[in-house]
Amino acid sequence: MSKKSIETKVCRNCEQEKEISEFYVRSNGTVPYICASCERVAVVEREKARKGTFRYKCTVALKTARVSRKRAEEELGEPITDTLSLYDVLFTLGADDCVYCGRHCKQSEKTLEHIIPLLQGGTNTFDNIAMACTSCNSSKRDKPVTEFAQNHGIRAKNRVLERMVFGSGKEPEEVFGVLSAVSKRYEEVKGSDKTA
Ligand SMILES: [Zn+2]
Ligand SMILES: [Zn+2]
Repeated sequence: MSKKSIETKVCRNCEQEKEISEFYVRSNGTVPYICASCERVAVVEREKARKGTFRYKCTVALKTARVSRKRAEEELGEPITDTLSLYDVLFTLGADDCVYCGRHCKQSEKTLEHIIPLLQGGTNTFDNIAMACTSCNSSKRDKPVTEFAQNHGIRAKNRVLERMVFGSGKEPEEVFGVLSAVSKRYEEVKGSDKTA
């Protein structure tokens, strides 16, 4: 038998001697140190670890925001500005405290929130996103932010304003004007729905 014909190999992980056919031989002919079944387990473990990371959470949040934007565009029949990047989401979800209730959040409680809902003229941009806890996010739904923040007191309103001023580089008065206009429009639409 020639030296070249290696028929078995001991897997460095399970330490079992296995036939070469039980290894994922690479396209260049290299036989890996661990057998195919150990490699499969390792891939699953790696994937699990990756999915537990903050970066992965942000990737998912970014995708979800894009899906919401597309849905809103279909409903509104017009394009919505979308400049959101993974970096924007990483930065935003890196915040510790919920923008509304101010509560310190665990990573699992953090959600990406559109301050002005996309259906109310909000955009998928850095100045219109914030980190909100799961409970605030689900109770806010399509309520205008001014109304919703009111329930959490003046500090909540300030937190929202601060976040938008920071994100947009606009003056607080200007941001407040935008928020008030959204709120007014929302009330008008709600009012006309009732009378219709
Ligand atoms: Zn093995
Ligand atoms: Zn909250």
